[in-house]
Amino acid sequence: MEYTCLPLSEIPTVSLLYKLKRLNQAAFPVATPSQTFNDIISHIRHDITNLQVDCIVNAANKSLLGGSGVDGAIHRAAGPDLVRECRGLDGCETGDAKITAAYRLPCKRIIHTVGPIYQIEVSRGIRRPESLLRSCYRRSLELAVENGMKSIAFAAISTGVYGYPSRGAAEAAIDEVRKFLDEPNNVGKLERIIFCTFERKDERAYEETIPQFFPPTQLDHESLVQSTNGESSPSPELLAATLPDPPTMDPVPDYEPQPKHKKMKINSGDSPQVIGDKKIEDDWEEVGHSEDEPIETLDDEPVEVDNAPSAADVRSVQSSSILDMDDSHSSENLLQKDW
Ligand code: ADP
Repeated sequence: MEYTCLPLSEIPTVSLLYKLKRLNQAAFPVATPSQTFNDIISHIRHDITNLQVDCIVNAANKSLLGGSGVDGAIHRAAGPDLVRECRGLDGCETGDAKITAAYRLPCKRIIHTVGPIYQIEVSRGIRRPESLLRSCYRRSLELAVENGMKSIAFAAISTGVYGYPSRGAAEAAIDEVRKFLDEPNNVGKLERIIFCTFERKDERAYEETIPQFFPPTQLDHESLVQSTNGESSPSPELLAATLPDPPTMDPVPDYEPQPKHKKMKINSGDSPQVIGDKKIEDDWEEVGHSEDEPIETLDDEPVEVDNAPSAADVRSVQSSSILDMDDSHSSENLLQKDW
């Protein structure tokens, strides 16, 4: 799938998505409608590295030195200066976030947050994954405001290799953003908050969940054909034509997938845990390579960027024309496979 650089003005708000009937009303909304919020919240399925917004939020690992999935895509697109800056950050705890420059990306800054590894955190306490995931969104929003960012685009944190179920992750993310916007201190701080999905399963989770927390207003329901003063406005069809083309299939990796070397091992003992190609020892992850495999270099120095395919990439290859992916293909199931 070809992705082009998208300016903020071409990223649809929730309000526009309602008008275009790309979002439907929820049967049981849990929050009151707000036109202000529906003009801030946005959703698009796109490659986040191509969004021309103030900042994007990366699903990083604790080392902050690059990984697979969206992290790898961001490091590859930003160039080797990013990993150099990240080396000085001393890693990042799960649920926390750090900010860097964006280098070759069209955005101004990158916020790196470390999402929970679902199966590990749930084994430590049933509420832990959700509270850590909420913290990722909250800390990222706070960092964006502290750094004068006005628009922020989130990848769907933890829903790839880290195995957080899409629907639960969307609910935690969207509810936390709603809570942030509801706080009087945060009024006017952020002009656009974009949920950027990549796979159909996550896109669908957001399409189902956004209307619960950001229900349509009366204005969102109104037809765009006729404006209130009687003058013609663009028809929904015309407006739809100005939106970026929705993808018709899940993303295909831009490189040949390599076989995974290691199995995921979830245990509660002292030995290190391994998820795909990410090893987790105590509270620290080792990113990427095994000793018998070369380290990728972005320039003259070895860097710890891992080009191995993510669960998303593997899914894309395994089912090359997936239009809909249900939870039976979720990351947890795939991760429990032998690679
Ligand atoms: P995590 O380890 O936190 O699960 P992943 O990178 O594996 O991180 O996946 C997080 C989310 O990012 C997934 O929903 C995945 O589909 C998505 N993703 C992968 N590549 C991109 C990309 N280039 N742009 C936007 N989202 C992406």
